[in-house]
Amino acid sequence: MKALGKTKGGPGLQLIDAPVPKPEFGEVLIKVKYASICGSDVHIYKWDEFAQSEITKFPRIIGHESAGEIVEIGEGVEGLKIGDFVGIETHIACGKCYQCRIGKKHVCKNVKILGFHRDGAFAEYMTYLRKTSGRYRKQYQNIGFPSWSPWEMRWIPPSRVI
Ligand SMILES: [Zn+2]
Ligand SMILES: [Zn+2]
Repeated sequence: MKALGKTKGGPGLQLIDAPVPKPEFGEVLIKVKYASICGSDVHIYKWDEFAQSEITKFPRIIGHESAGEIVEIGEGVEGLKIGDFVGIETHIACGKCYQCRIGKKHVCKNVKILGFHRDGAFAEYMTYLRKTSGRYRKQYQNIGFPSWSPWEMRWIPPSRVI
């Protein structure tokens, strides 16, 4: 599949020919239908200090403001089915730190971000976890927006946000 990301440090992005990922336990495979450019993608493109401190593994497919259709479901995933149109919550909370344990996953001290710490959405397909930060998930379900930057993609009515 075609994907966009970094194969090395330095300014710019590279077109990557990557294998379609397989969903692991607790993950789904998503055919990406929409992905928009976030300010943090610009940081990655410019390769500033922030980007250099966060992206340390190559190649890395970037992109995180996204929505798509579930095309495969990994083991252990409940409550989703093939064909569901989902918006993606970008932040992956650890579930173990103090903040997570008191229900404040949105400020998890070990937070991982799609497109920075795992391969992201500027690709034909991506895998993603079923569970992320519950607070954000609930928030966006409530207002019906799919993404961390809802104003960028407000025309998309996802069936759910994962
Ligand atoms: Zn963003
Ligand atoms: Zn945590």
